[in-house]
Amino acid sequence: MVKYKKIEKTKIPEFIKDLTENYKVFGPVKKDGTYVFEEFNPEKPFEIKYTKTMVSAKKIFFPPEEVTMEFKGLKVKEKIVEEKIVLFGVHPCDINAMLILDKIFSLDHPDPYYWARRKNLVVIGVECEPTDTCFCKSMGTFELREGYDLFFREMDENNYCVYVASEIGEKLTDTALFEDVDPTIALEIEKRSIEKIKEEIPVKIEGLPEKIHSMYKNDKIWEEIAKKCLGCGNCTMVCPVCCCFNVVDTVDFDFKTFKRIRRWDACTLQEFSMVAGGLNFRPAIKHRIRNWFYDKFKVFVDKVGVPGCVGCGRCATYCPAKIDVRKEISKIWEEFL
Ligand code: SF4
Ligand code: SF4
Ligand code: SF4
Repeated sequence: MVKYKKIEKTKIPEFIKDLTENYKVFGPVKKDGTYVFEEFNPEKPFEIKYTKTMVSAKKIFFPPEEVTMEFKGLKVKEKIVEEKIVLFGVHPCDINAMLILDKIFSLDHPDPYYWARRKNLVVIGVECEPTDTCFCKSMGTFELREGYDLFFREMDENNYCVYVASEIGEKLTDTALFEDVDPTIALEIEKRSIEKIKEEIPVKIEGLPEKIHSMYKNDKIWEEIAKKCLGCGNCTMVCPVCCCFNVVDTVDFDFKTFKRIRRWDACTLQEFSMVAGGLNFRPAIKHRIRNWFYDKFKVFVDKVGVPGCVGCGRCATYCPAKIDVRKEISKIWEEFL
């Protein structure tokens, strides 16, 4: 059951500093005109009111590149990282994305590298500042029922209301920095905060898996998108839900030390679907972009019950060709109504 507390805004730096005594703490900081999740540095305090980071928080518990095994001669050492990490300042869409990743990394064979980090992760969410590409309302990911330990919403000029949703959350707020708050007030603040969320281009999701499936073989729509798409993979790299990776083995110059590395991969990249002998079973961009849409809006639904998209809008913001997932979905609907 959620409990309610409050903290003065001026006390948040002290709260974060206290966290660093027991955890590595990551949060959003401003960098190069955008925001990025970085480890806490007292000289660069975290932003609480921020729009969105370029790369989502998934990079903390599912790193873009990690060594999973080291081989020295005949000795094999598996590298499982079990750090205690606090992820501060995560928006609702990204928390919902984490819940989807949890399901994906539990399918068939639970992923030990993912779960070693994830089970030790403390999640502190904050209410967001929507941008013109957000469509979390359409995706139903602007609200949270689970997936966080603490959640901060602005209460008034001087305070944040804090929603405490786990035992760890209770321990972290059981200090003189926090005071109890009347639940009626906390629920009113939550309502106000959710009502603030608007979206410029809503997306019709109901029935979309069936629509996408029905037009899988219709090249026209995919060719239209492919004419613009550069096959750069940005849309996947910034996506909080994409979870494909490649595994490569490298050898050091001593020819005795090997490393097995896994790296994020993207189905929009040409090499993604290349197999031994040089055959590429998605040879053209139209095949790859079709896979991106089909996977997100059909395969994810079949596998884990929800789309592989939380409406964060990053893919639209960072696409160099200005391909906007919301507008492409609208075209898909128009084409097949
Ligand atoms: S970011 Fe844009 S151009 Fe690059 S692969 Fe994705 S849709 Fe294509
Ligand atoms: S597909 Fe685009 S809008 Fe959806 S979660 Fe990924 S980056 Fe965000
Ligand atoms: S959209 Fe492509 S890169 Fe992203 S999870 Fe699906 S197959 Fe992987």
